[in-house]
Amino acid sequence: MRNPLLMTARQRALLDKRSGDDSMESFPAEPLLALPSGYREKTEMTAEMVERHKKKTERRREQAKKHREEEKKKTVSRLLNKSESRAGRGAAKAKAAAAAAAAVPAIVYRQTVTGSELRLPVGVAAPITAQPPRAPPKPRLCGVAGCSNPRRYSCSVTGVPLCSLECFRAIAAQRARTQKTPTVSVTS
Ligand SMILES: [Zn+2]
Repeated sequence: MRNPLLMTARQRALLDKRSGDDSMESFPAEPLLALPSGYREKTEMTAEMVERHKKKTERRREQAKKHREEEKKKTVSRLLNKSESRAGRGAAKAKAAAAAAAAVPAIVYRQTVTGSELRLPVGVAAPITAQPPRAPPKPRLCGVAGCSNPRRYSCSVTGVPLCSLECFRAIAAQRARTQKTPTVSVTS
């Protein structure tokens, strides 16, 4: 059996419960010590102490008030600055956009109560001439000799346009052959 003096109060209580009341006598009685509860006897406050206490409280209150005021001021200034800078940024942006729009020559069509008008930029002929249609880009074809399929891929090594895996293999085989040729010529 363990030494009951090395056990905690809880362990000892459990052991007592299990073994019944008879075994209680076998344990030597241990003086119980009270833990400090934090309670302190109130001492009579002198007039001086009361005065000091009052002053301290007053000072603490004042400081808290000051702190609150400062926080308020800071918040207000922060919000004001934020809105100002935001407005400034917005105005600058609008101005820049307007300038950019003015710089680009544009055809303006306006329809109002008094009539319609078409404004052309300087240098544009008054009856606008029709533009000839632009031809679409020519389709690129497979780069393998003898293949006329449109290009779908490019070889990742050579950049040759390819249409299929078969053509890629053909190109790869050709490349292998051309790369081998110099070594063959050296040995022979
Ligand atoms: Zn091909």
